[in-house]
Amino acid sequence: MTSKSQNIIEQTNKYGARNYHPLPIVVSKAEGVWVEDPEGNKYMDMLSAYSAVNQGHRHPEIIKALKEQADRVTLTSRAFHNDQLGPWYEMVCQLTNKDMALPMNTGAEAVETAVKAARRWAYDVKGVADNQAEIIACIGNFHGRTMTAVSLSSDEEYKRGFGPMLPGVKLIPYGDFEALKSAITPNTAAFLVEPIQGEAGIVIPPEGFLKKAQQLCKENNVIFIADEIQAGLARSGKMFACDWEDVEPDMYILGKALGGGVFPISCVVANKDILGVFNPGSHGSTFGGNPMACAVSIASLKVLVNEKLADRSLELGEYFKNKLKEIDNPVIKEVRGRGLFIGVELHEEARPYCEKLKEEGLLCKETHDTVIRFAPPLVIKQEELDWAIERIKKVLS
Ligand code: PLP
Repeated sequence: MTSKSQNIIEQTNKYGARNYHPLPIVVSKAEGVWVEDPEGNKYMDMLSAYSAVNQGHRHPEIIKALKEQADRVTLTSRAFHNDQLGPWYEMVCQLTNKDMALPMNTGAEAVETAVKAARRWAYDVKGVADNQAEIIACIGNFHGRTMTAVSLSSDEEYKRGFGPMLPGVKLIPYGDFEALKSAITPNTAAFLVEPIQGEAGIVIPPEGFLKKAQQLCKENNVIFIADEIQAGLARSGKMFACDWEDVEPDMYILGKALGGGVFPISCVVANKDILGVFNPGSHGSTFGGNPMACAVSIASLKVLVNEKLADRSLELGEYFKNKLKEIDNPVIKEVRGRGLFIGVELHEEARPYCEKLKEEGLLCKETHDTVIRFAPPLVIKQEELDWAIERIKKVLS
């Protein structure tokens, strides 16, 4: 007899474009750090939807905001004002210490917005000649899947068959200050960087790189843009991963946990001298800044702040990382990370280990072949981490 899960997987494989290779698990329910399949088997979520569920699945405060907003108004488009957008703007600007925000829906759209803002700023403010603006990004980056985002990528598979790519992109090795210095020209609009590279396998830049890069950008009138979509909003043990080096970027790109894993919302945040380049008609999105997303986002940010999830991530992350480091197995190359954003790099393919972890009740996803990412919802309890560590030890020892 085939199970409900098997049927759903078959249906998915039959009708869905194959742009993903998911673990063979169907999730039909979730709460906090736990998810459940249709057969009632429970698993611990160690991925948090790539950091979108930092607040835990279906956090009651966020669901309350969603339901209350659903009973009032869900979408107005930006042709009219809505009563949730103003309060959301103020909150996100206060959190980032910036003047202005621009809401979109997905991370990749916010990256598009950042690149458009930087290019227009280069022409209108910096005085770069028409169509000459350059963006510097880093090898190994992940900024999403739209044409702009893949044009920034160094991964050939992300680009294959999708050309021509967007011009005006320069790539430097991640964390290489001298390379950044050489790449900057009078036409450079922005340096776009993930303060911790998530999809590349939780890669932390050399100490001092972000600070020095920020200073260099300042000296050369280049916008320093931090893509904090995955590493930000408490994931790395600080509100923003840039906080690890006391760096305040010129522009933040936020997404994922901005909507608490409940409703998509993303944004860029910067001061007026940069975001002021947009005028009516220059950019937009039908759903961007919709009242549902804003109400959910306000609740999501309140949860991050009120429940001190950054501190929790820092403390439990140290505990978890030390436990992982105790595992004595030559297959482990390195355990690294900040807060509950941890990568275990192996000397071999990580996928079979993720499959074994699933059998033990832990949902993890390999990244870049050899890294297992451990990034549970930040509301996880120490006992739950201990439960996970037992099982990880069993699989990795
Ligand atoms: N930027 C970073 C750093 C990401 O990790 C991601 C998604 O994983 C994105 C951008 C793209 O976000 P989205 O998938 O919401 O478009």
